[in-house]
Amino acid sequence: MEKRKGSCHCGKVQFEASGSFEEVISCNCSICQKKGSLLAFVGEKDFHLISGADALVNYQFGKKSIDHMFCSNCGISSFSSGTAPDGQKMKAINVRCLEGTNIEDLRVKTFDGRSL
Ligand SMILES: [Zn+2]
Repeated sequence: MEKRKGSCHCGKVQFEASGSFEEVISCNCSICQKKGSLLAFVGEKDFHLISGADALVNYQFGKKSIDHMFCSNCGISSFSSGTAPDGQKMKAINVRCLEGTNIEDLRVKTFDGRSL
């Protein structure tokens, strides 16, 4: 576990997340394919929004089970909120938005979200 800071592009949205961020998910579902997010999942208790609650917009589609949050000022999606199959509240962190991320150092696993 490591604690990392993350933010959107303009800096209104800032958060801290604790978890493991070396292995990330590249998903091919309709929204991930277009956003290009590289995702790592942490529990709700391991996520702390520092600022930007007023700047965040919630985009939902389909079953509306996931809150696809993005910054209303710069448009960047730094995390999403959802519920795991076991009922636990989760955050999907866009590891590209964490400070100090080197994309070359990440182990990228593909996930076939399109087929769900
Ligand atoms: Zn922003």
